[in-house]
Amino acid sequence: MTTAISEDHRFLIEGVRDYARGELLELDKQWDREERSCCERLDQLYEMGLLGLRIPEEAGGIAVPMLPYAHIIRELAYASPSVAVTVSVHSMVCEAIKMFACDAIRDQMQHKLATAGNLSAFAISEPDAGSDPGAAKTRAEPVEGGWKLTGSKFWVTNGIVGRWFIVLARTADTGNSRDLSMFLLDAQSDGVDRRPIHGKMGIRGSETGEMNLDGVFVPREHLLGEEGDGLKIALSALDGGRIGIASQAIGIGLACVDMMVSYSKERVQFKQPIASFQAIQWMIADSQTELDAGQLLVDRAADLKESGTSYTREASMAKLFASEAANRIAYRAVQVHGGTGYVNECRVEQLYRDARITTIYEGTSEIQRYVIARELLRDA
Ligand SMILES: Cc1cc2nc3c(=O)[nH]c(=O)nc-3n(C[C@H](O)[C@H](O)[C@H](O)COP(=O)(O)OP(=O)(O)OC[C@H]3O[C@@H](n4cnc5c(N)ncnc54)[C@H](O)[C@@H]3O)c2cc1C
Repeated sequence: MTTAISEDHRFLIEGVRDYARGELLELDKQWDREERSCCERLDQLYEMGLLGLRIPEEAGGIAVPMLPYAHIIRELAYASPSVAVTVSVHSMVCEAIKMFACDAIRDQMQHKLATAGNLSAFAISEPDAGSDPGAAKTRAEPVEGGWKLTGSKFWVTNGIVGRWFIVLARTADTGNSRDLSMFLLDAQSDGVDRRPIHGKMGIRGSETGEMNLDGVFVPREHLLGEEGDGLKIALSALDGGRIGIASQAIGIGLACVDMMVSYSKERVQFKQPIASFQAIQWMIADSQTELDAGQLLVDRAADLKESGTSYTREASMAKLFASEAANRIAYRAVQVHGGTGYVNECRVEQLYRDARITTIYEGTSEIQRYVIARELLRDA
């Protein structure tokens, strides 16, 4: 049972839909072709409040509840999957800071994060630590007044323009899950070196970076939670992040369905629109059914999160189902378009590539299945 979306929030979702389809859609094609960062539009997104969606109003945000938030990410993804993930990752970091920073840093940071120039990023993965973030080698050594971080982070979304990174680093070597801690790092600090990762298959407008940390000083109060809480904070942030990625997948799938519908009505073969062939109709019908099912899973997870109830399993189910569905749907969208769908003049070609990442980041489909089964087996 999902809670209703208020009139105000419906209005906001519709406004984002109009903005995204009117302004971002064409730009997204250019970002893809030129592999250019969608962050060139950040100031506009800040002005619209889209980087303060999950920040309290008293701190300058617009405090949108999780359900309308998910629908906003979907609307952004329909027009630009790259902008959707930029906003989703930033929102995930805002929430982690809200939940785990000490009072003084939380108050200071929330104001900043809602203001232009303060995009945030989530730096967990490393070259040898992907599905297993516990294998992180980046180290945090205690020093006078704080910590010094040394190591490499890889695959960081928002990693180039981003200013505030939450970084998972090793503070002990006992071999248990409390060996890692989470730090809030200012990427403008001495010792931070960042480089873009080029050549991505999809979401080419989203920034992905690698970051080397060479003894970077982080003040003591920038430790999130307690020492040893790093993995817990990372997994808690990812629970919420997965609702965002599931919504991104649904937005991609919806764009594909709309394109299948319009193209199949226009394209004539055997003297009739291809929409009259049952084979085409079934691809469209299956796709919309899967999207509606995915949306219900997203809405349930979003509602549970908002109510403060545990939602780990439900977020993984939403992400698993929606991302796999988006890939099936993008495959069908190319199929419905025939040869036209195989060239980049046609947007389904890009959506097919963009959909691919959704089963990989913020936990692969295999990891989502592991999380779902672990929760079920533990409950049993
Ligand atoms: C474009 C992009 C953006 C990203 N953004 C971020 C970001 O902002 N921050 C960040 O920290 N990371 C980010 N990532 C990293 C992303 O989260 C990882 O790529 C992902 O978690 C998978 O890790 P991996 O690539 O090392 O694959 P691996 O972990 O090496 O996995 C390889 C394969 O093995 C499977 N596998 C691994 N372990 C198991 C298991 N226990 N059981 C079954 N199968 C298993 C996986 O499912 C996969 O199929 C990003 C990645 C990309 C490509």
